[in-house]
Amino acid sequence: MTTSDSTSGPADCRRCRHFRSAPYEARLEGCYFPDNMVSKQSAGYLDEQQQPGRHDKINRKGDCKDFVARDEAIPFWRRLFAG
Ligand code: SF4
Repeated sequence: MTTSDSTSGPADCRRCRHFRSAPYEARLEGCYFPDNMVSKQSAGYLDEQQQPGRHDKINRKGDCKDFVARDEAIPFWRRLFAG
């Protein structure tokens, strides 16, 4: 029996818009999709109190229905020469 990693399935958390990694995107790494969060705050100044969901458990099989692919990053040189 094999176990699937949340980073290897078709719904890869690290390519999902709802995933934030620590320490640059968020204080705690995890899933910030509102329905999956343990604790959420609407006010920005209460951001420290937010607790994301456990993406590794929610998307254990790599088939999360809430997956939304991130936009592809545009290379600097392409932005520089964009007309
Ligand atoms: S919504 Fe699903 S795929 Fe996206 S980060 Fe959360 S658990 Fe992972």
